[in-house]
Amino acid sequence: MMTTGIGMLLVALLILMVMFLVFREGVCWYWKINEGLSELQQIRSALEGIDRKFAAAGAASGAVMGRTEEKKRTNECSKCNKPMSPGARFCEYCGASSGA
Ligand SMILES: [Zn+2]
Repeated sequence: MMTTGIGMLLVALLILMVMFLVFREGVCWYWKINEGLSELQQIRSALEGIDRKFAAAGAASGAVMGRTEEKKRTNECSKCNKPMSPGARFCEYCGASSGA
C-alpha cells in the first residue's frame, strides 16, 4: 500500500516534469523567447563591435576630446579667456557673465 503510494507520487512527479518541459517549450515558442534571446545576443555583439570601433576612433582623436574636457573643468571666461573660480558668476577681470 505504502510502496504503491510512493510509486504513484513518483509517476505523478514525472508526468508533471514532462508537462512542465512541454509547456515551457510551448511558451518559449509562442512568445518567441528563444528568437528574442538570439536577437538580443546579435544586438549585443553588434553594439560591442560599435563600441570597439568608437574606442579605436576615440584613441585616434583623444587629444581633441581631452582638450574640450579640460576647458570645461578649468572654466575659462568666454570673453577674455582668463581662468574663473568654479563658483563665480562673473569674470573678475572683465566682468562678463559666466553663463552658468
Ligand atoms: Zn573675462
